[in-house]
Amino acid sequence: MKAKTHEINQGLAKIRKLRRLFFFILFSFLPIIALTMAFIARFDNWYPIILPGFLFFFGMFIQNKLHKVKCPKCKDYFFVQKVSKENVILPSSISFPPQKKCQNCGLILYR
Ligand SMILES: [Zn+2]
Repeated sequence: MKAKTHEINQGLAKIRKLRRLFFFILFSFLPIIALTMAFIARFDNWYPIILPGFLFFFGMFIQNKLHKVKCPKCKDYFFVQKVSKENVILPSSISFPPQKKCQNCGLILYR
């Protein structure tokens, strides 16, 4: 039993880390765009546009990873609700922004 709790905590820590990274990219994106635009306007040099471009694709990659992450307890997708006849509504299959608990068993991310 103890090993299992340990496993769950480890799994949750991994999800927390990925989720934090995703939010960091999400919230830093606009300020970085603004800074890049200011730089381009001032120096007439377009190379820094690579930075937000890279960040955008990196964010998409992380979001994709986040959506595929499995719950350490029920081994189902953590952020994506399993769609059944009872709960089928349009946002059933997505979870944005990433929720704080497992969409299938209710395991809470921050305990
Ligand atoms: Zn779960």
